[in-house]
Formats: sequence, C-alpha cells, structure tokens
Amino acid sequence: MSELQNKVKELFEKNEIDLFIGYEKGTRKPRPVFVSKKEDIENLIFDDNCSGNLAVYLTRKDLVGGKKAGISASYYALKSIAQLFDENQLKEENLRVLGISKEGKVKLFDSAEEIKQHLTETPPPAKLEDDELVRKMDAMTPSERWGFWTDELSKCFKCYACRSACPMCYCTKCIVEVNRPQWVQPWAGTISNMEWQINRVMHLAGRCSDCGSCGAACPLGIPIHILTHKMAESVKENFGEADGNGNVLSTFKPDDKENFIH
Ligand code: SF4
Ligand code: SF4
Repeated sequence: MSELQNKVKELFEKNEIDLFIGYEKGTRKPRPVFVSKKEDIENLIFDDNCSGNLAVYLTRKDLVGGKKAGISASYYALKSIAQLFDENQLKEENLRVLGISKEGKVKLFDSAEEIKQHLTETPPPAKLEDDELVRKMDAMTPSERWGFWTDELSKCFKCYACRSACPMCYCTKCIVEVNRPQWVQPWAGTISNMEWQINRVMHLAGRCSDCGSCGAACPLGIPIHILTHKMAESVKENFGEADGNGNVLSTFKPDDKENFIH
C-alpha cells in the first residue's frame, strides 16, 4: 500500500471519514474517484500529475452533505480549501485534508491555519504555458487585447462547464439563472458571452485560487482562466495578499486609498 492509501485506511478505521475524494488512474490522466469503502482504497493515487482541483466537490451537498469527508488536495486545491474556510463553507471537524509536504511526503493537515501556513511557505507549481500566454497578452495594446477576447468569447456556447469546475462557484442560484431581472441574457452571443465572463470574473475577485480548472473544463479551449489570473494579479497589486478576513468585494478598510470610502 502507498503512503496515501495507508493514511486513508487509517482515517476510515478511526471513523474520521465516511467518504474520501481522491484520484485514480484515468485513460489519459488521473481522474477523480469517490471512495466510501475500504476495499476501494487500493485504486487511490496521488502524484504530480494529480493536478485537478478536487475542492470543487466539497461544496456539493448531494455528495458530501452530512458526511465527514477526506480529500487529496493539490497546491491549488489547498488554496481553494483555505478560501472556502474563510467563507464559512467548510467545517474543520468534518474534513480531513491530505496534501504533499515540502519534503514530498503525504501530510494530514490538522487545521485551516496549518493549510494557510503551508501555502505561505510553498511556492506555486510552475505553469509555463499560461505564463507565456500572459506575457503575450501583456504585450498587446488595449484594443488588440479587446479584439483577442471578443474573438475568443464569441465561440462560447454557454455550457457553464467553467462554472461547474470552479470550487468557488457554489451559489445555489447563479446570477445567469436569475431572470427577474434578467442580468445576463441566456443565449450565446458576443455581448452576452462577455457579460457572462465579466460577471464570473468579478464574482471571483480575491477568491480565485488560480487553479486553471475553468479553462481546462472549457470544451472550446477558451483560456478563460487567464482572465481570473489577471484579476488575481490586479487584486494583489491593489489590495495586497488575502488576509483571511473576507474577500476584496465584500470588505473595506477605513484607510483605503480611494476617497469614496470616507
Ligand atoms: S475561477 Fe478558474 S482558476 Fe479560479 S478558482 Fe475557479 S476554476 Fe480555479
Ligand atoms: S466552459 Fe467555455 S463554452 Fe462553456 S460557458 Fe464557459 S467559456 Fe463558455
């Protein structure tokens, strides 16, 4: 048995979990697996290829509601879990988080604080392709950038796979489904697609972990995760690192440099 499988077995034996959300071998890359019986533990794997953000399942009530869950958390899943704790979406007593320590060992995190501490000491994994795309976009003029996104987003057919893949999109009713008033037109079209993505990105300001799952889920390959990446950069530049006291759109500081706050 691997180190991970042993730890998960122990969690089941001590009745600390009823369900474990992890990865198993997939056809091309590791895929999510939901283990509720000890016999299935042997399918679990956890290595550098396990990069999908499994934290998305932690707010799915049909899956984890009323259960004690364990999870294999990649770097970005840990970031999402820390944010979900800050937003009171998770309870420490119902969750066991396994990640990879600085020494490359499977580590059981005891608390949200310990996860946050680990994140401050661990550099994010390299994302070379995304860095290249960001560099290209930064080199564009505003009108070239507008042209790029108009072109890309005109392909969107509103399947909302980007929303389903995101751990932070957990509202029971999304703004795109509200029709009194109708904030975002339900059909696909260049303007309404822009409206959808602008809304999505604004709602994720200061909350996005930069995991890239939204872009990876898009069946048309639209690099929408770069939009949230740029938003995260801009939030950090203007408001600093998240401090666990809410997100940038739901809090304010009396010493904010903008005058309208006074
Ligand atoms: S917006 Fe995209 S990159 Fe950000 S947390 Fe959601 S899925 Fe991950
Ligand atoms: S996943 Fe892609 S096609 Fe589907 S709504 Fe999101 S951007 Fe549009």
